[in-house]
Amino acid sequence: MPLRSICVFCGASTGAQPIYRQAAESLGRHLAEQGLRLIYGGGAVGLMGVVADAALAAGGEVIGIIPQSLERAEIGHQGLTRLEVVDGMHARKARMAELSDAFIALPGGLGTLEELFEVWTWGQLGYHGKPLGLLDVDGFYAKLGEFLDHLVTERFVRSPHRAMLQLSESPAGLLNALRLWQPSATPKWEDRQPD
Ligand code: AMP
Repeated sequence: MPLRSICVFCGASTGAQPIYRQAAESLGRHLAEQGLRLIYGGGAVGLMGVVADAALAAGGEVIGIIPQSLERAEIGHQGLTRLEVVDGMHARKARMAELSDAFIALPGGLGTLEELFEVWTWGQLGYHGKPLGLLDVDGFYAKLGEFLDHLVTERFVRSPHRAMLQLSESPAGLLNALRLWQPSATPKWEDRQPD
């Protein structure tokens, strides 16, 4: 399936290093230049605001999905192509997933990880066949990668499911990997005997 809309999960903070902001700017700009629509959490704060502003400044289309309860805290971005205000967090995530052909996580905190892991587990269960990946900034996700490999070694995650998560240091490299990725038919349940 050609990629048209890319969901970006990222911090509601900008983090401790300027390089995180620079990576969010670079990703937003790259998506717009490639004619890809950005789907994100709709806030104007942190890296969320940075990626959206960069895509808009480069002439891109940006759709934000924000729960009513967070519209004030995360400052619903008023300059987007479209801001959808939904009932709650579950509705937000479902709508972001519905609108998107692929998922990218920039650096972020618990919310970013939760959103990424949720779409990953949905893919692992075969609920969708959409690619996902990490935009790794200055080794930000290296330790997570080590832990994920440990889960495979300890046989809680199967290799094809671990391999679903792409990783690149550049937006172009990551989008290329997402385009080339093919869903695997490996079932999640390693220990289950065949029927
Ligand atoms: P964070 O990575 O914690 O800075 O949060 C980034 C985004 O994830 C923000 O828009 C949060 O509203 C969102 N978020 C926080 N908690 C959750 C959650 N439980 N599920 C999904 N998104 C969340």
